[in-house]
Amino acid sequence: MLDKEKDKKKKKHSKSANKTVKVKTHKAPFEFEYSDAPESRDIVKIKERNLLYINGQWQEPSEGSFFPTLNPADGEVLAEVAEASAADVDKAVQAARKAYEGTWSKIPAHERGKYIFRIARILQERAREFAVLETLDNGKPIKESRDVDIPLVASHFFYNAGWADKLDYAFPGHKVTPIGVAAQVIPWNFPLLMAAWKIAPALATGNCVVLKPAETTPLTALLLAEVIEQAGLPPGVVNIVTGAGKTGAALVNHPDVNKVAFTGSTEVGRIIAKAVAKTNKKLTLELGGKSAHIVYEDAAIDQAVEGVVNGIFFNQGHVCCAGSRLLVEESIAKDFVEKLKERMSQIRVGDPLDKNTDVGAINSHRELEKIRGFINEAKEEGWEYFSASATELPGKGFFQKPCFFNDVGSAASIFRQEVFGPVLAISTFRTPQEAISKANDTPYGLAAGVWSEKASKIQKTALGLKAGVIWANTYNKFDPSSPFGGYYESGWGREGGRHGLFPYVEVQ
Ligand code: NAP
Ligand code: MG
Repeated sequence: MLDKEKDKKKKKHSKSANKTVKVKTHKAPFEFEYSDAPESRDIVKIKERNLLYINGQWQEPSEGSFFPTLNPADGEVLAEVAEASAADVDKAVQAARKAYEGTWSKIPAHERGKYIFRIARILQERAREFAVLETLDNGKPIKESRDVDIPLVASHFFYNAGWADKLDYAFPGHKVTPIGVAAQVIPWNFPLLMAAWKIAPALATGNCVVLKPAETTPLTALLLAEVIEQAGLPPGVVNIVTGAGKTGAALVNHPDVNKVAFTGSTEVGRIIAKAVAKTNKKLTLELGGKSAHIVYEDAAIDQAVEGVVNGIFFNQGHVCCAGSRLLVEESIAKDFVEKLKERMSQIRVGDPLDKNTDVGAINSHRELEKIRGFINEAKEEGWEYFSASATELPGKGFFQKPCFFNDVGSAASIFRQEVFGPVLAISTFRTPQEAISKANDTPYGLAAGVWSEKASKIQKTALGLKAGVIWANTYNKFDPSSPFGGYYESGWGREGGRHGLFPYVEVQ
């Protein structure tokens, strides 16, 4: 291309770039431009009205009610979704029972595996469609849904497909049998990933499923039902019933389900645990968290800053195992906090479909209000507050700038309660023992991150921590072969890996 033409193109390009970003660093301020880089939403065809997927058919809700699901980035309605009544849930459970007894528990295990492999491959083929739809319905940045959620979803199906005909190796010396019909209820923060965590091991072990997605993020689960159809699964093996808490309650309380798998808040987890306690249903609960980073003075500081930023701010802090508390060794605390401020001022909050966006929209107005309530309370309590981003918040939709409270007392509610938003609480420690006891001093025990250059220190710290997952010099890294789950109020049981098969089988 001629230089003149190049210049012309450049000018045109920079005109269309509507954002000039000033990144305020604490050292040398510099200025550069980002052009808009929106992912096209054309690949997704959203149906105006979405029905229930029961017995391999799209069915009208028996009471004829529908509810809207919104795009949190602009507050506009994306689609109407059927609300399943107790009668619809009953139909779905009956369909699952029939499929279980009639086909799924009878076909050879390697055949089951073939179906699950097929689901995984179709998910990969349709990955971009799923990523865009997840971002539209949930508000998470496209780079998260494209690079993290959807690849992990496919890998969970691949991983579990592999186990289907090798269960004798998963439980050496034992014969295992499926348990029947699984009732699965999931939250809005990783809508499709949570569906994969639940459905893939259930199918691999020979069970049939009724799944209820969250009210605010039902669309990718419904698209998954299309994939299940495309993969040719026998009718009734997987049923998707959409609705709110009432639908979830009808499902977990249905007398003909053999297993309940729930991911969501500790509050609802408690209600379900009480209800299930009176029955012989198996139960797994994946609940909330208030996970801590422990950063020792000998850690690679820039790497640790990046890990802390990644652990709490990316994905809007909507991660059950978000590193929402930072415990940093007193000797480096001041420098660490300065570096953290500098890094936060480069975070781009905005349109989730823009490929440059780091922090997208909060999933709902209700969640945004909840987060702001926590922030206001902590401000009133007088903790040192800092908030920054490289971009201004969009004028519409539900957005929150990343922020932290520094030097927070361990009794403060911002240090103890799950905020589920991009809000970090920082405190210091002087000895490893103090770090461990501060990290353990919550009702939760989901995850932790330890940062040090000394493996022995990491090992010793990890042994003292009461957390289901502990990352060393990294954070929020997931793999389908690795079990996930928590202690105390963070839940019961494990999902993922060989451990994740156990809740779906009877071991003889
Ligand atoms: P939630 O309010 O507990 O809802 C979770 C699911 O349960 C939703 O589908 C919800 O329907 C349904 N539900 C509500 N009330 C119910 C009831 N009485 N019986 C049966 N189902 C009911 O949680 P959330 O706010 O969606 O999700 C955020 C929480 O999930 C956070 O606490 C987070 O830490 C936790 N989480 C944990 C993990 C983990 O692996 N440990 C992973 C992800 C998220 P509606 O959508 O209509 O309310
Ligand atoms: Mg939505």
